[in-house]
Amino acid sequence: MALKRKLSPKLTLYRDREFPMCISSKSCLRHTAVVGVGGNIGDVRRRFHHLLTHLRHAKDVDVLATGPILKNPPFGYLEQDDFHNTVLAISTSMQPRAFLRFLLRLEKKFGRRRSFANAPRTLDLDILFFDGRVINRADLVVPHPHWHERESVVIPLQGIDRCLNIQGR
Ligand code: ADP
Ligand code: MG
Repeated sequence: MALKRKLSPKLTLYRDREFPMCISSKSCLRHTAVVGVGGNIGDVRRRFHHLLTHLRHAKDVDVLATGPILKNPPFGYLEQDDFHNTVLAISTSMQPRAFLRFLLRLEKKFGRRRSFANAPRTLDLDILFFDGRVINRADLVVPHPHWHERESVVIPLQGIDRCLNIQGR
């Protein structure tokens, strides 16, 4: 069962049993990453739950918090379905590029095929933040460019901010 709240004619926020969630058990993994999660093919909210189950069983990562899920219109390429987006706070022992490779493998596992920029996708996993680090490499830019201009990031993020503060992350 999800609680659904219309924020505006184009934006709907969903809350359910696992999104948002603040997990209180302590993690001793060293790094904290915030990951943007999105998709617009098939039953995306159901896929987010499967992703969470998968992450809870994965080694070298602990999920610390999840945000609410925002349904919002596509940008860039407009002839496609609305997106669902959320954010996850994850602690990990991996370094940023190993963590990126881990996320790209997960996208693949959840059916992601790459075609063109801003194309429809089953699952998109982006590193928004990694500790307080600034990274500018060909394959990895952190913080993720334009995150602060995107409702798909900013609104779900409000759901995990307080949780990470409580956890001292
Ligand atoms: P987008 O998320 O912008 O729609 P893709 O998901 O297709 O694009 O990602 C393309 C590439 O973006 C990835 O292979 C990765 O190397 C690169 N990339 C750069 N910075 C990041 C980041 N912060 N998080 C995830 N991918 C990133
Ligand atoms: Mg991406």
